[in-house]
Amino acid sequence: MSAASILIVEDEEQLQRMLRSALTQAGYMVVTAKSGLEALEQLVRNEFGVVLLDLGLPDMDGKEVIAQARSISRAPFLVVSARGSEREKIAALDLGANDYVAKPFDMGELMARIRVALRIPQPASASKAAAGGLHVDVAVRRATVDGASVRLSRKETELLALLMDARGEVVTHDAIIEAIWGRGTEADFMNVRVLAWQVRRKIEPDAAAPRFLIAEAGLGYRLSLD
Ligand code: CA
Repeated sequence: MSAASILIVEDEEQLQRMLRSALTQAGYMVVTAKSGLEALEQLVRNEFGVVLLDLGLPDMDGKEVIAQARSISRAPFLVVSARGSEREKIAALDLGANDYVAKPFDMGELMARIRVALRIPQPASASKAAAGGLHVDVAVRRATVDGASVRLSRKETELLALLMDARGEVVTHDAIIEAIWGRGTEADFMNVRVLAWQVRRKIEPDAAAPRFLIAEAGLGYRLSLD
C-alpha cells in the first residue's frame, strides 16, 4: 500500500461504490471495509495514507474503531458521517480523528480534505520544487529530474515531501525520524542516512556530489531548490 492508498469504511453499499469509483478515478489505491472489524483487520495488514470512516457501522461505533486503531496504525482518520451533531464531531476528534465531513458532502470538498490529510504539497510548493529541476508527484510516488521519471518507495516519497514542505530549510534528523517512522520508533540517524542514500541514487545525476538532497552535518537534510 502506498502513501496514496485510502481505506473506505462504509456499510452503505451505494455510497461505498460511489466513493470507491471517485477516488479510484482520482488516482488513489482504494480498499473498502463494511464493518469496524473489517476495518481493523485492514489496518493491521496494510498501511494507508488516509482512512475515510463512517461512524454508524453495523458491528461497532466508528469512534471505537478510531480508539482501537490508534495502537495499530498511524493513518489519519477523516470521519464521514451523517451524524452532524457537534458532540459526535468533538468526540471523534478527541479520539484522534483528523477531520470531519458531514453527509451529504460535496465530492470536491471531500477530495480537498483528503489531500490535506495526505499532506500532499499544494501546487505552489510543487512548482517551486520544479524550479530546481526536481518535481515530486506525491500522489503517484514519482520524482522527475530534468524530464527523467523514477518511481519512489513510500518512505522515499515521504522524505522528499517533508523536505519540499520545508522549502529549502534544514529538517533535523529527529524531525525526519518522527515524521516518517513515528514517535517512539527504534529508527535512528542511520535509517535516515540509508533512506537519503536511496533517494540520492534515484534523483541525483551524481549521487556523490548531490545537487538536490543536501546533508547538513550533525543537523539534518534540506532540499536545494536553486
Ligand atoms: Ca453507516
